[in-house]
Amino acid sequence: MTIATPAVYFRVEPTDPHTHLFNVTMVVARPAARQELALPVWIPGSYLVREFSKNLQQLKARQNGEEVTLRQLDKHRWIASCARNQPLTLTYQVAAYDHSVRTAWLDGSRGFFNGTSLCLRAVGHEDKPHGIDIAPPARIKGWQAATSLTPVKVNRAGFGTYAAANYDELVDSPVELGRFWSARFTACGVPHRIVVAGAAPTFDGERLVADTRRICETEIRFWHGRRKPAHAHYLFMLNVVDDGYGGLEHKNSTALICGRRDLPRVGEKQAPEGYNTLLGLISHEYFHTWNVKRMRPAEFARHDYDAENYTGLLWFFEGFTSYYDDLLLRRAGLIDHAAYLRLLTKTINQVQQTPGRKVQSVAEASFDAWVKYYRQDENTPNSTVSYYTKGSLVALCLDLALRQHGKATLDDVMRGLWRRTRGGPMSLDDVLQVLHDLTGRSWAGEIQRWAYGTDDLPLKELLASQGIAMQPDTAAPAQRLGMRVQEGAVGIAVKAVLSGGPAEQAGFMAGDEWLGIELADGDAWRLHRLDDLALYAGAARRATALVSRDRRLLRLPIALQPAASPTAMPDTVRLNVDDAELARNWLREENPGAA
Ligand SMILES: [Zn+2]
Repeated sequence: MTIATPAVYFRVEPTDPHTHLFNVTMVVARPAARQELALPVWIPGSYLVREFSKNLQQLKARQNGEEVTLRQLDKHRWIASCARNQPLTLTYQVAAYDHSVRTAWLDGSRGFFNGTSLCLRAVGHEDKPHGIDIAPPARIKGWQAATSLTPVKVNRAGFGTYAAANYDELVDSPVELGRFWSARFTACGVPHRIVVAGAAPTFDGERLVADTRRICETEIRFWHGRRKPAHAHYLFMLNVVDDGYGGLEHKNSTALICGRRDLPRVGEKQAPEGYNTLLGLISHEYFHTWNVKRMRPAEFARHDYDAENYTGLLWFFEGFTSYYDDLLLRRAGLIDHAAYLRLLTKTINQVQQTPGRKVQSVAEASFDAWVKYYRQDENTPNSTVSYYTKGSLVALCLDLALRQHGKATLDDVMRGLWRRTRGGPMSLDDVLQVLHDLTGRSWAGEIQRWAYGTDDLPLKELLASQGIAMQPDTAAPAQRLGMRVQEGAVGIAVKAVLSGGPAEQAGFMAGDEWLGIELADGDAWRLHRLDDLALYAGAARRATALVSRDRRLLRLPIALQPAASPTAMPDTVRLNVDDAELARNWLREENPGAA
């Protein structure tokens, strides 16, 4: 392979990791006379303006050994008054102290960065080849580097020069640094690598690799059958912490976070409960390799790094990915029927317990992600609905309705879309057209009601058509009273009050501390957990809640046993297999080798 000379070159040095500062040198080979430089305000995949430039400091520009004047245009853009077409060198530092997958981290034991945090964009040079030289820390031995960028001249530890075809590829390829655990495997002929930082010594890497490989093979076969997939290599970067969860998708890699107790342990056959959640995360981010990183909203054909990039289709790209993340774990044989139905029940209940589902459609919630989903507050459950959870139920309804109709499944639709868009930008019209082509009828009405409307989804009927019965279940006390709480040693902290519920009628508000209850006979009890309400109040229909708010003590009469509406869909359900034969058609395990 020949690597073009980079038009923009970076050198990243974690010189003294304990200072949490990356030293960055940037060279623009042939700058404009007034060269504009900009740091992204957001990272694709995480729909919030994060102002990465707040972590950039000491920016200086030089040309031919002379200092060049820099004028700051706004929070994230600068103009260098330089001579045209002569190398322009910029130096700066980036403070890296965010443990998440979205920005950058650096300390004495580990480094991680996304290009959106560390690499300025040389405006006008975005489409030209970029190069990046990654250096080890000056005084610490034994570190390695891992990234999905193309290695040009790299040592055994992974330090050296990498190439990117353009700025987009550079900033879509995060870098992991440190003394990590590492393994390589192939899935359907494609080389994969997994690096794990921070795991406990008991971590069973072999098991994680085997299960991850199974997920990769299932998903490659899902999209391509026996044909070659769109990616030539892939890197999983897993950061293991005491308590954490998250992931961000990239074109040829993903950055993940999980809790240390969620990993399988050597010699223990039974993996911890949280391991399925981690496998679901791996399955989710890997599915994005196709659904959102290649096939993507038309609005993301070209990312605008300077501002919000709006799309009304996150219910498709996140929601449908969420539908398949768990379903493909089932198909891969990593979870059984019962475990799958438990996960589905949880999703249904999360949506049904969100009053905001009646306020915003998932399409509206997608568009508003920048100010709602990513900026959650006490009103979030009342004002919006998650395009992940409700979007995955739209996918479920569509899949089950298609199966009932009998001409195609959602799998065929996803593959049809991949062929139609050639794995590129797409719109809602493409979804509707593929649906029509595969089934000979329009699905515009269903999509309109489910994704663009706020009525409850026809889950009960559609699940019944696949042999799954959906029945009302007993709601947890907080849900019955219409509140979200945090229960600790000190008491019950009210985090949100759900619209239309008894807590709202009683006058509760977020921030209240629920101290106790007073019953009709005058008895009063201190409460630490809502479960204890049944202990003290039994079947009493009403009580007076004793509440502390801004150091005042309030008495709020509350209905304890609200009657559910007989016509509305219940907010808490359970799923049972009614017809195992029917259910197996939808939920069977597939051998990826047999495709
Ligand atoms: Zn996602």
